[in-house]
Amino acid sequence: MRRAKIVAALFLFALAGIHQPSPAYADSAPFMFENMDYQKSDHIRIALDGAEIPMETKPQIIGGRTFVPMRSVSESMGLHVEWDETTRSVKAADDSSLIVFSMGSDRATVNDQEKTLDVPLCIVEDRIMVPLRFLQENLGYHVVWIQDSNLILMSRQDVGVWRYSYFEMAEPYREVEALYVNGEKTARIRYNGKCHEALTEWRFEGYEEVYPFKEYERKYLGGVKTAETRYTGKNSTTLVTIQGILIANKTYSLPESYHPGENAAARQAFNIMQADAKAAGLTIYISSGFRSYSLQEQIYNRNVALYGQSRTDTFSAKPGHSEHQTGMAFDLNTISGTFGNSKEGEWVRNNGYKYGFILRYPEGKESITGYQYEPWHLRFLGIDMAAKVYESGLCLEEYLGIPSSYA
Ligand SMILES: [Zn+2]
Repeated sequence: MRRAKIVAALFLFALAGIHQPSPAYADSAPFMFENMDYQKSDHIRIALDGAEIPMETKPQIIGGRTFVPMRSVSESMGLHVEWDETTRSVKAADDSSLIVFSMGSDRATVNDQEKTLDVPLCIVEDRIMVPLRFLQENLGYHVVWIQDSNLILMSRQDVGVWRYSYFEMAEPYREVEALYVNGEKTARIRYNGKCHEALTEWRFEGYEEVYPFKEYERKYLGGVKTAETRYTGKNSTTLVTIQGILIANKTYSLPESYHPGENAAARQAFNIMQADAKAAGLTIYISSGFRSYSLQEQIYNRNVALYGQSRTDTFSAKPGHSEHQTGMAFDLNTISGTFGNSKEGEWVRNNGYKYGFILRYPEGKESITGYQYEPWHLRFLGIDMAAKVYESGLCLEEYLGIPSSYA
């Protein structure tokens, strides 16, 4: 009798230990789960003290709770499992614990203490399944779920796992892993012996704020931003407009995609000017109006083939740099210096501003505009602006204070 009492007292003492709330992780060294297979599997796996528990019936999540096969898991925990057909109950016992479950009941006894299960045991594939949490809590196990591996780690010690954390941002991009204890990341890190295959990516970053608004991109290593940037060779498609005037000259270009067609206001102004010229007995007509980027490219390349680049650059714009791409420039009549000496040429030079046109490449301004004198080339600015530029006696670059030269 006396002996029985002592045994019972020891039992209670042992239980008290089990039920003591444990801190996030204890001072004792954790059990380290090294060399685990973290490949995601299509079923839930359980590793107990580093060894995977063989289970014929796989764990299941039923109603948000993880059920594990009673016999496989309990036996791995060192419990002996017995089925009692008459009472329809299951006993799991080892030297210090005895747990009794009754089928269909949410009651169980743990060392003769009555406990309530959140959910009763169930049967899957003829096997008794028990809620893992109940075993864990009543037998004093630490459990860590590795979600992306579909893996459960269990130990009576703290569960220690090294997991990949980051890689060093300099070659050879060594991988660093962090120690997790009971699922919580600690400050301890180490190299895992591997080097990251740093995926180099260049991602669009932005445009410079000054013309020509060069586009640049930034280097990312494995998705992590670095300090390195470079130009893409492309520029922003932003148009440069100064005092309301869309600029196209040797410094400022238009994007390839800019294709406005002939400007309607410019055409209307020309028609009125043409009618007034006719009333004065003169015939003016448009011999070249809007040109697309690609048409200008063909023209420029043909001129370079015929005359060489340096001569071509005095009268033919590189693609993107032609005023004709604005849809607001017109070449009149014969594209030749003789037009400047004709009655029509003289009339247009002296009256064009009244209709909103300026002579864009005047005589004597070649070094500023970057083009030879072109008496036939008019640019529509609108009546007010054309009058101001005309009266200033300046070419457009001088009037706006902008350069015109190829970079
Ligand atoms: Zn022209």
